[in-house]
Amino acid sequence: MSRRGELDVIVVGAGAVGGALALGLARDGFEVALVEAREPRPWRADDEVDLRVVALAPDARALLDDLGVWPSIAAARIGPYRDMHVWDALAPGELHFDAAEQGEAALGWIVENKLVQSALWHALHEDGFRRSGFSRDALDYSKGSRKNIAAEAAPTKPIIYCPGEVVEIDDGASGVTATLADGTRLRARVLVAAEGAESSVRTRLGIAFEGRDYAQRAVVAHVATERPHAGTAWQRFQPGGPLAFLPLADGRCSIVWSLPEVEAARVLALDDDAFRAELGCAFDFRLGAITATTPRAAFPLRLRLADRYVLGRCVLAGDAAHVVHPLAGQGMNLGLRDVACVRHVLRDARERGSDLGAAHVLRRYERERRSDNTLAARGFDAIERIYGSTSEPVAALRGVALAFAGRFAPLRGMLANIAAGRR
Ligand SMILES: Cc1cc2nc3c(=O)[nH]c(=O)nc-3n(C[C@H](O)[C@H](O)[C@H](O)COP(=O)(O)OP(=O)(O)OC[C@H]3O[C@@H](n4cnc5c(N)ncnc54)[C@H](O)[C@@H]3O)c2cc1C
Repeated sequence: MSRRGELDVIVVGAGAVGGALALGLARDGFEVALVEAREPRPWRADDEVDLRVVALAPDARALLDDLGVWPSIAAARIGPYRDMHVWDALAPGELHFDAAEQGEAALGWIVENKLVQSALWHALHEDGFRRSGFSRDALDYSKGSRKNIAAEAAPTKPIIYCPGEVVEIDDGASGVTATLADGTRLRARVLVAAEGAESSVRTRLGIAFEGRDYAQRAVVAHVATERPHAGTAWQRFQPGGPLAFLPLADGRCSIVWSLPEVEAARVLALDDDAFRAELGCAFDFRLGAITATTPRAAFPLRLRLADRYVLGRCVLAGDAAHVVHPLAGQGMNLGLRDVACVRHVLRDARERGSDLGAAHVLRRYERERRSDNTLAARGFDAIERIYGSTSEPVAALRGVALAFAGRFAPLRGMLANIAAGRR
């Protein structure tokens, strides 16, 4: 910590979003403290593939690459997908995305959440912070002009408090003080809450959120199929909710089957044979029979949009700010876009010699990310409503829409660009 005992940023939560943010900001030369409630379980190659996987978009991969963690993730276990097929159980038409058509090597990569978090945690501890030639003078706010600050800033080692929990926040005109459960007091210019959907910092700050409970649960499992997945991500829309088959590195598929609560409970209780039979049927036997399955787990599905992302010197990022339906596989991707935005906003503020926690600095982040995230969340919500409907006219209309989008390359390209974070 600096001579004045003040940090630049406190990041709360070391999931993918908080971990990437703390690592990135420290690499940018900011003095960072990271507070995490539980030490992440290490990822091990001989462990069964974790049931929580995410489809990472090209811009998320680029961000992790920039942080130096992508090579270790890619060397460990990832499932690239070059094609994606989307179709509707109740209407004709099919949407096909092809990486080659988009000029990309892959549309995305299926990665275990635990692997991403573990790689970031490892980097925070081991990889990037051997050099701690951090020049405090370069970041001393009392020194007036801040020209060429970026060139002077050197990577610094973030301080990690784990297990740690913020029990009090005192947000003042000149800095924010977070008191941890063990009495440690941290003072910084900015505090970022990235502790996921149940963010206690968000609650402590009294930031409300809007949204809805989908009354659905996503049943997840890894399954083996009669025919190979061919490096393709598949999604079938059904009245109860979408069913996705995502290609794993070991040839199996990870399924995300969104179902109404009661149906989800019933499907979870099926024996393996009955589950395999029902799943094969729900997937239209697109990859033939389901030949094996892991145990299943389920996650409640909600839409949550924080009323604001910034209050005083405190900022929300990732699931703490927005929780979206997984049908487009975008939650973590949106969170990593928040990370990129916080980093560039704070770097710009430092270049200009501004207080990192000044309202105009943090509002810029809110302006840029809140509109993007809200648009995405509302879009997924609309898709969920439209494709969840059993009404015949609605089914007919969406069949036309899917067929049109399927045949109209520019529209397909636009959708692919949005999913890839290239806007
Ligand atoms: C079924 C399903 C499928 C999904 N598929 C995809 C997908 O394909 N692609 C995609 O991009 N996204 C997907 N998502 C969404 C994605 O998993 C989340 O958006 C992402 O994990 C959120 O990351 P985060 O770092 O914001 O929060 P989290 O992953 O929840 O991490 C929060 C961290 O904060 C810590 N923490 C919690 N409370 C405290 C506290 N009080 N103090 C300190 N630390 C605390 C936690 O221990 C954790 O380490 C999916 C979600 C679901 C449910």
